Amino acid sequence: RTVYVNGAYLPEEEARVSIFDRAFLFADGVYEVTSVIDGKLVDFAGHARRLARSLAELDMPAPCSEDELLAIHRELIRRNGLTEGMIYLQVTRGAADRDFAWSEGMTPTLVLFTQARALIDSPAAERGLKVISLEDLRWGRRDIKTVQLLYPSMAKMQAKARGKDDAWLVEDGFVTEGTSNNAWIVTRDGVLVTRDLSNRILHGITRAAVLRFAREAQMRVEERPFTIDEAKDAAEAFVTAATTFVTPVVEIDDAPVGDGAPGPVARRLRAIYIEESRKAAI
Ligand code: PLP
Repeated sequence: RTVYVNGAYLPEEEARVSIFDRAFLFADGVYEVTSVIDGKLVDFAGHARRLARSLAELDMPAPCSEDELLAIHRELIRRNGLTEGMIYLQVTRGAADRDFAWSEGMTPTLVLFTQARALIDSPAAERGLKVISLEDLRWGRRDIKTVQLLYPSMAKMQAKARGKDDAWLVEDGFVTEGTSNNAWIVTRDGVLVTRDLSNRILHGITRAAVLRFAREAQMRVEERPFTIDEAKDAAEAFVTAATTFVTPVVEIDDAPVGDGAPGPVARRLRAIYIEESRKAAI
């Protein structure tokens, strides 16, 4: 596999980053994951915009322009012959002697790599996910997409240990989001509900696209917090994320959601999302 590190396209074995990089020592780095369908990028503009916001919130300099980023993504797709899968991008503040305080004007580290994977044909989407609820013990700036992902990893491992697929995180009695996706329910009245944007959740690019498509299809939508009890009592539940699109949730804390099978609204939104993303991919 060919990867990108600070201006160079290299075989992955030759890629090097300093052990003094602040992402390694302090998780002082941000990332994006963009999906690739038919060899093209899905919603690159959305991911570039969120990356710029994450960098600005952390006072981190941008490693290059958005046009240059797009060119790097495309070159990496080309060099790896990627038709379906994802591109991971990470920007870190760079390397310096270990010190909690950082200095201005550091040189950012930019790393990208590809992972080939079937996204459209998904056994998980056919089956639906089983989730458990767990207390959300992450930090308070989940709107910044940092590489500080230890708690979500622990939550995912707890779900696996219980024979489930994922965890929905709960804070002050309300669902924030999944370990690596935004959480949605469809009420028995057919209203789509997903949590409103704040520093408590990541502002999902897929979430924004699905909200747009749902409104265009005249579906009723509410952006507000919901509880695990409301989700268990809902007609349907699902999650959204760049590489999983719309994926149904069929069980929460051992209780079936609806009839315990992927529901029509989630299926329809998945189909719309894939069709529209395919058309708009660049
Ligand atoms: N929430 C969290 C915590 C995530 O890690 C992700 C990323 O996959 C999402 C939501 C979904 O965001 P996006 O749709 O931009 O992939």
